Amino acid sequence: MSRYWSDFVHKLVPYVPGEQPKIPNLVKLNTNENPYPPSPRAIAAMQAELGASLRRYPDPTSGALVDAVAAHFGVPRECVFVGNGSDEVLAHVFLGLFRHAEPILFPDITYSFYPVYCGLYGIDYTAVPLDESFAIRVDEYLRPNGGIIFPNPNAPTGVPLPLDDIERLVSRNVDSVVVVDEAYVDFGADSAVALTQKYPNLLVTQTLSKSRSLAGLRVGYAIGHPALIEALVRIKDSFNSYPLDRLAIVGAAAAMADGDYFAQTCRAVVDSRTALVAELQALGFSVLPSAANFVFARHASCDGAELAQALREKAVLVRHFRSPARVAPYLRVTIGLPEENAALIAALRAILA
Ligand SMILES: *Cc1c(COP(=O)(O)O)cnc(C)c1O
Repeated sequence: MSRYWSDFVHKLVPYVPGEQPKIPNLVKLNTNENPYPPSPRAIAAMQAELGASLRRYPDPTSGALVDAVAAHFGVPRECVFVGNGSDEVLAHVFLGLFRHAEPILFPDITYSFYPVYCGLYGIDYTAVPLDESFAIRVDEYLRPNGGIIFPNPNAPTGVPLPLDDIERLVSRNVDSVVVVDEAYVDFGADSAVALTQKYPNLLVTQTLSKSRSLAGLRVGYAIGHPALIEALVRIKDSFNSYPLDRLAIVGAAAAMADGDYFAQTCRAVVDSRTALVAELQALGFSVLPSAANFVFARHASCDGAELAQALREKAVLVRHFRSPARVAPYLRVTIGLPEENAALIAALRAILA
């Protein structure tokens, strides 16, 4: 605390990212990174860019990446916005599309950055409870609101929402914007990107951090009606004209174009998830149905916080959330390489014995 701070800084409650500790031989299953390396074509594109061109500012519109994203989805380039991680894209969404008289709506159990952005930008929100099975109740969102946002599949549960439920929500909410945060959609949920060409109040965000193995590059994007995109561009150009550097633009564009590598690594993660769920169940865990690159699991008799601590002592890192109370018994476990998942299971077996 300091008297030099702007007043509102005293009241900020910042997001707490998962740890990135430097423990030797750590099995790191706590931040939903992809266990496979980025596309070799993305690496090659960045190596080719690494040189004298860095003297110059990058393209402020990231045009090559916008084109690659638009081509991948078959949408016009006017429907695409790119940013420095989808977290930055989401920050611009909150400021540019969600600051209205009515509170915005999101699930009571969801990505914990949403309330942080509300605090930063002075946006009211209402947290809408999930049902008993941790699913989003669409009918609870059909009320006056300043905007709606939820991840699909949801985080940290991994539970997906069917596309017809999303369409019902969007079509019956024409007075505000519905944002679907598809950070994990490539691991098994249905994307709403195609619906953006039908509904001018739908915006979909995605990231290259999870399914494209580029968390370290910081690239995300939004797809929606050109009028929504224009709001984001206005915010961006009032904040940072060059949010994506030259390496990020060429690396991300090459990653978007490498469909084969993407499909192969997503399939490997999904296959490992199927195997891991069966092994966790055999050890007495109940596991929520996941369409993501992580699972949310609770043990029949062991406390979540204690299990996470015991795993940590065996150099296996998973994520545990203390609140809300309903999630405290659970562990969120990122799907790792087959040998990392095996190390997790071996550690759990030793702890539970
Ligand atoms: C990881 C994640 C993001 C942010 O990803 P970036 O790394 O900032 O692109 C956004 N939403 C959810 C739900 C996430 O889990």
